[in-house]
Amino acid sequence: MSSIELKAVEKWFGDVQVIKGVDLAIEEGEFVIFVGPSGCGKSTLLRMIAGLEETTRGQILIGERDATAEPPSKRGLAMVFQSYALYPHMSVRENVGFPLKSAGLPKAEIDAKVDEAARVLKLDGYMDRRPKDLSGGQRQRVAIGRSIVRDPTAFLFDEPLSNLDAALRVEMRYKIAKLHQTLKSTMIYVTHDQVEAMTLADRIVVLEFGKIAQVGSPRELYEKPANLFVAQFIGSPR
Ligand code: ADP
Ligand code: MG
Repeated sequence: MSSIELKAVEKWFGDVQVIKGVDLAIEEGEFVIFVGPSGCGKSTLLRMIAGLEETTRGQILIGERDATAEPPSKRGLAMVFQSYALYPHMSVRENVGFPLKSAGLPKAEIDAKVDEAARVLKLDGYMDRRPKDLSGGQRQRVAIGRSIVRDPTAFLFDEPLSNLDAALRVEMRYKIAKLHQTLKSTMIYVTHDQVEAMTLADRIVVLEFGKIAQVGSPRELYEKPANLFVAQFIGSPR
């Protein structure tokens, strides 16, 4: 069963079309990465899946459900942004538990879910700290923790590592790969970093001016790029 399916989706900003008819079926548990140059529509497409941008034409299915017109809160997806947007006055524990507290869950249930997220993300030692006393990588993990507790159908990441320094980026890349192995959730991940795409993805979607240039495993794209654009982008010797 597809976890998320895009059917002929288009996005127009006024009379400018930025997503030009995208069809894509993402399997449950799949790690799919959108790559492509700046301005090709990666963030717009992800935001359409999240419900943060209206879909001008076409359909977005989540599970079997037509979610095209659903507000973000109904879609059951977790969006992790590149800026961490943690609450500075709350501890790590309160930040991670915040979505559950807002939803009115009982405290014992919140504590159990927060402890589980802390264990998965190795945040156990930091639960009483404020965001300002954490490193960039730790803050990023808290932000991911806050989305894990809601058991989302899928995680959506928009260049989550682009604000981190090179060493931390490698460490976080490894942690995100572990997270995918542990949770086995569907993940859709936007990056312009080829190394991230090649190492994390089950399938890579290469976007070119709002259209899919090619979809395939890292190996397929490397060995059989569909055109020069993909070859140059993936950096293969075609
Ligand atoms: P990417 O994430 O691949 O860099 P974006 O999805 O952010 O690309 O942008 C795709 C195109 O849509 C760009 O040309 C951008 O200028 C345009 N765009 C994005 N958001 C808006 C908006 N709110 N209004 C008008 N144009 C937009
Ligand atoms: Mg973007």
